[in-house]
Amino acid sequence: MVLGLLLARAGVEVSVLEKHGDFLRDFRGDTVHPSTLQLLDELGLGERFARLPQSRLYEVAFPVDARRSVVVADFRRLRVRHPYVAMVPQWDLLNLLADAARDEPTFTLRMRTEVTGLVHQGGRVRGVRYRTPDGGEGEIRADLVVACDGRWSIARQEAHLAVREFPVPLDAWWFRLPRTPEDNPSALTPRAGRGRFALVIPRRDYLQLAYIARKGSDPQLRARGVESFRRDVAALMPDLADRVDALTSMEDVKHLDVRLNRLRRWHVEGLLCIGDAAHAMSPVGGVGINLAVQDAVAAATLLAGPLRRGTVTAAELAAVRRRRLLPTVLVQAVQRLLHRALVTPILEGRRAGPPGPVLALVSRVPALTGVLAHLIGVGPRPEHAPAFARRPQAQASGLGR
Ligand SMILES: Cc1cc2nc3c(=O)[nH]c(=O)nc-3n(C[C@H](O)[C@H](O)[C@H](O)COP(=O)(O)OP(=O)(O)OC[C@H]3O[C@@H](n4cnc5c(N)ncnc54)[C@H](O)[C@@H]3O)c2cc1C
Repeated sequence: MVLGLLLARAGVEVSVLEKHGDFLRDFRGDTVHPSTLQLLDELGLGERFARLPQSRLYEVAFPVDARRSVVVADFRRLRVRHPYVAMVPQWDLLNLLADAARDEPTFTLRMRTEVTGLVHQGGRVRGVRYRTPDGGEGEIRADLVVACDGRWSIARQEAHLAVREFPVPLDAWWFRLPRTPEDNPSALTPRAGRGRFALVIPRRDYLQLAYIARKGSDPQLRARGVESFRRDVAALMPDLADRVDALTSMEDVKHLDVRLNRLRRWHVEGLLCIGDAAHAMSPVGGVGINLAVQDAVAAATLLAGPLRRGTVTAAELAAVRRRRLLPTVLVQAVQRLLHRALVTPILEGRRAGPPGPVLALVSRVPALTGVLAHLIGVGPRPEHAPAFARRPQAQASGLGR
């Protein structure tokens, strides 16, 4: 959606194809980071975004005992316009971007349109084939296809792009519980127990929970049944024990097969992969959305000119990967380090939280909490809106919306 909006503002004819009928899906992560908030301001969408129902996250903290927690990332330390992570259901953000893009005459959004394959001709990708729920099938021809279809990207498979896969120790299970006025929405506090841990994302009307356990343990979890799962959740988060009955069956608990990988090349002639389609991200650190948004901005900046001319060369496509490879590799390296140092010991039952010396260090040197906040909130190479996409607030704030 970000790439579609930016290219449409450059006057490029864009069609965004989305297989679902709406953006209303949970379990995608709700985090909008300081660098994305800044981008929305640059696009003239900051005020409209601020009007969305949201909570603000100012820190990430680990509990050390029943009364005390240690802050490991403090977003208030960032020198940015929005020193917090906005927690906004992803569908609200996507709808906002879609509304803004619809203002551009060259933008088309085709919902319920599933890409089923690539159209090849003359040794390059020339477009996509698609299917609609009423059985309709068709083809769209394009100067460039950009695969933004996530970690199971059909486009990258069809283009036979080689993937470098990294082992991941965890899987995630998502579910929701009722929220009460006492729940603190401004701090993200992972709760760790031996063998599993959980994250609570406060949404406006309910709590979104991520339960993290050993990769491949979904069959055992389901075989043990909902009663056992409720007991597990209550033991991990005693303050939520009074609401676990809201889970009526394991159908309420959605399994997500976590992957961490990246393509060796992000393009073939006529096709570019970005976001999770180019590099699937672990949920650790909650940075995948930010990285995907940054890829989109870089791609729009580098490719709007060539697309306006009507030809995009392989070298121009390669330039997008060159620009985004360093942040991708760095962030994935930190995620893999956290998998080894933090996640695996907890999931193997060797520890029930971060290493004590690390917590002691961040307690003694609070400036370190700004370093992690920067990595999560801004990332190694933040991208800014190109001049052609910038709008003043009033013009793009959807007067009357
Ligand atoms: C359990 C888990 C939790 C996470 N939590 C967070 C978090 O809190 N914060 C964060 O920043 N990141 C988080 N991430 C990572 C984040 O979800 C991804 O990095 C990010 O969503 C990637 O964005 P994307 O646009 O590349 O792909 P996606 O968000 O996966 O979007 C792909 C889109 O393409 C559509 N699509 C797929 N196939 C087709 C097709 N054939 N035709 C048409 N449309 C298609 C899909 O419906 C979808 O709308 C999490 C990841 C996991 C696994």
